Amino acid sequence: MLQEIEQLLILQDRDRRIRTLQNELKNAPSEKKELEAKLNAANTGADQAKQKMRDLEVEKKRLEVEAQGKRDAIGKYKTQQMQTRKNEEFQALANEIKHFEKEIQRIEDRELEVMEAMEQQKPVVAEAEKNAAEARNRVATQIADLEAKVKAVQETLVKAEADRALSAKEVDEDLLEVYTRLFNSKGGNAVVPLEHEVCMGCHMKLTTQTAVKVKGARQITHCEQCGRILYFSE
Ligand SMILES: [Zn+2]
Repeated sequence: MLQEIEQLLILQDRDRRIRTLQNELKNAPSEKKELEAKLNAANTGADQAKQKMRDLEVEKKRLEVEAQGKRDAIGKYKTQQMQTRKNEEFQALANEIKHFEKEIQRIEDRELEVMEAMEQQKPVVAEAEKNAAEARNRVATQIADLEAKVKAVQETLVKAEADRALSAKEVDEDLLEVYTRLFNSKGGNAVVPLEHEVCMGCHMKLTTQTAVKVKGARQITHCEQCGRILYFSE
């Protein structure tokens, strides 16, 4: 095999490794965002459950105050009843009292409904809070893991780039330029093997003349179809 090809294969290997590491780093922020979104969803669930409970408590309090107001009014009417001597007025007050008693009954029924809803909401709140707490723990661990991974990848990348620079120094400057252009434009696939006279980059059959040149391994040969650098692997 041509020495240049050997050098390029090492370089390509290192460039691919760098590319893989860079991709891992590129995905890290969106992975982190996804984790934070999960956490937010769990927190929102707990907040909503608690808010519903607070709304019910407010409604219960309001009904209690309303019922008490009616009871106070009944008390006043009863006092007035004792003070009046007019039968008509007594009867009118009795009607008011009856009306308010019905109202109180209606309010107390509603209070029972609200209390029942509160009983049902209790386990919902507990469950939502448990889920949120679990999500916080889980996501905190996952984010810590992710950050540790990013740090490790960054360190590996620094080493990989140093290795790459060493390999690049070995390669002829013009050839390095051609290789770099191909590596970037051909999806990290600049130097490819020739198998059964087919380019393993574009999968087209080469002319016999080109295939013979590649097998001869005396000079850098490009695929006529895609321009990639070819080598023959026995
Ligand atoms: Zn090709």
